Amino acid sequence: MDVLSDKFVKLSKSCHCWGCGREFKAGETIRKTTSVDNGEFFCGNWCKVCDAYWTEYLDDSDVINYGDLLSNDPDGWKKIESEINANPKTKIGD
Ligand SMILES: [Zn+2]
Repeated sequence: MDVLSDKFVKLSKSCHCWGCGREFKAGETIRKTTSVDNGEFFCGNWCKVCDAYWTEYLDDSDVINYGDLLSNDPDGWKKIESEINANPKTKIGD
């Protein structure tokens, strides 16, 4: 898979995180990636919890289905979420 773009954006309208399926509202910051794999484009929105989860447990070449990060490993995902909430200095985009 080749990553074409990967950046943090402020949402102009609400959208759902690909990793956990949660909804994020306009004005919140989310990571947007666009990649191409065997000629197929793949666009993803990632919240900071899923972004951190991916960095911790997965490789760039891994592919998941919608909501898999949270539904496959709710305990691990929530552990990352609480670590992020406990350390507010870890801001998305820094
Ligand atoms: Zn998420």
